[in-house]
Amino acid sequence: MEKNNREIKYLCLKSINAPYQEEMEQAILDVIDSGWYLQGLKVKNFEKHYADYIGTKHCIACGNGLDALKLILQGEIVLGRLNKGDEVIVPANTYIATILAITSVGLTPILVEPDIETLQLNANLIEERLSEKTKAIMTVHLYGKCSITEKMLRICETHNLLLFEDNAQAHGCTCKIESARLPRKKINKHTGSIGNAGAHSFYPGKNLGAMGDAGAVTTNDDELAEVIRALGNYGSAKKYIFEYTGRNSRMDEIQAAVLDVKLKYIDQINKIRKAHAILLRSCLNRGIVEKCIPRKLFDSGLENYVVHIFPFLTEEREKLQRFLNEHGVQTMIHYPIPPHQQKCYSEWSSLSLPITEKIHREELSLPCNEAMSQEEIQYVSKLINQFYNERTL
Ligand SMILES: *Cc1c(COP(=O)(O)O)cnc(C)c1O
Repeated sequence: MEKNNREIKYLCLKSINAPYQEEMEQAILDVIDSGWYLQGLKVKNFEKHYADYIGTKHCIACGNGLDALKLILQGEIVLGRLNKGDEVIVPANTYIATILAITSVGLTPILVEPDIETLQLNANLIEERLSEKTKAIMTVHLYGKCSITEKMLRICETHNLLLFEDNAQAHGCTCKIESARLPRKKINKHTGSIGNAGAHSFYPGKNLGAMGDAGAVTTNDDELAEVIRALGNYGSAKKYIFEYTGRNSRMDEIQAAVLDVKLKYIDQINKIRKAHAILLRSCLNRGIVEKCIPRKLFDSGLENYVVHIFPFLTEEREKLQRFLNEHGVQTMIHYPIPPHQQKCYSEWSSLSLPITEKIHREELSLPCNEAMSQEEIQYVSKLINQFYNERTL
């Protein structure tokens, strides 16, 4: 393949949002005209629509995804179901926000390795890490792949653990668990509705992205919902009456207006992303697929994977990234340094988490989104084939 003037961005937000521009402009104008910019009808409507979509009784909009995570944990502390010093099981290979939320409210994260075939928290490694103090699992649907397994649900039941979902990357993802033993438990439900509460981010680059920061909590728990709503509003449920030492974390009307427009299209968006991911993979040489794509990422026909990120694992990451870049294809790395090796958590610097470290060393995120054409997807695959044709796998 010869060099040409192509430019495929990893994620072009302008193109991602272009199909909804007119509808969003109208919705934003409505807000400006209304003269009401916070805690109004747009937020209320979005909360209702998003709760219906995810399949929970409540949705509480807030400022961003990190706040959504913190509000859940702080809410459980206020309700006395979690106490400072309690331990929370969390995947070691998550984005730092998940861990920050846990430590910021005085809880202790227990970093557990992922399964290399799914890149999700490995439920087989949870029980050996439980102690008297373990009170919850914070699972993360990383890359947009459902991380909940039957085993994880069973561990929660057996050991009486709360289950929280970091759904920041997985809007619209379904959880398929075929289980006769867990009849009540959620076959074909949306992620974010399965545990005690789910945290969502609407950061612009997410599959459901706003025009700035925004987030939400979903839950079926009436008490928790009420406390979280107050905590995000200075700890107040009634004006000038402060029950808790809360924070200010509210979604503004403009973000809610934008999100309410895009929510209507999220299934369509995810459908294109999945089709693109299947195409990308099918155009790769078989040896590459076997070596570089996590084996179970594409299981169950992508019903449990909304392709927020398409991860490719290779020891030659830097060379491949440079090669693709030279041919006009931008890639990203999610994420270059794992949380336990970050400066802010220097107390964990001697931990050895080989699977997590391998993922952080080898992961390359390929461009795969709804703003790309099929032809562009095929071009990315062909380039990767070409890269490996020139060397032994
Ligand atoms: C984006 C993200 C967050 C944080 O969301 P913000 O809205 O940026 O605060 C949390 N967890 C995961 C896994 C994320 O990808």
